[in-house]
Amino acid sequence: MAKLLGAVFHVDKDLIKTRLGIPFPVRQCLQCRGYIKNRKSFCSSQCQYDYTHIELECPECGQIFRRKQSYVKKRVAKPSINNGKLQKRFYCSHRCFGQYWGRNYGFGTRHGYHRPRKWNWDLVLHIQRETGYGAWRLSRLTGVPISTVSMILRKSRTKEC
Ligand SMILES: [Zn+2]
Ligand SMILES: [Zn+2]
Repeated sequence: MAKLLGAVFHVDKDLIKTRLGIPFPVRQCLQCRGYIKNRKSFCSSQCQYDYTHIELECPECGQIFRRKQSYVKKRVAKPSINNGKLQKRFYCSHRCFGQYWGRNYGFGTRHGYHRPRKWNWDLVLHIQRETGYGAWRLSRLTGVPISTVSMILRKSRTKEC
């Protein structure tokens, strides 16, 4: 009976305990393998967070941080290609991200980005390709007005089709 329940609930047959003579499966935390009394998959919100977030190292400041696993997988499965190089960078913060892009594509730091007279379309498209960000975040990163960002994205889409 324990073996059967184990197969059904995907838990070790050793973990099937009996209470009042009725066998019931004891759940294990997916992260730390500790026992859980309730019907959840994790013993704590910390375990849930650790399980669903991958540990990454920021290429800019070297800080270890975590990103949602589904997001990382999506990015790595569909990496954007930039100058023939695969882009798989993850940054701990907007600040580090901005520093990298500032060095490579020459826009000011977050502290004092100046508004260029003519908006840098290439920059917006580069970052969009790199991050998949929507118009709102692109606008905040580059200082380009959101209406202009939307227009750039719309035009680039129709051009590519
Ligand atoms: Zn746990
Ligand atoms: Zn960083």
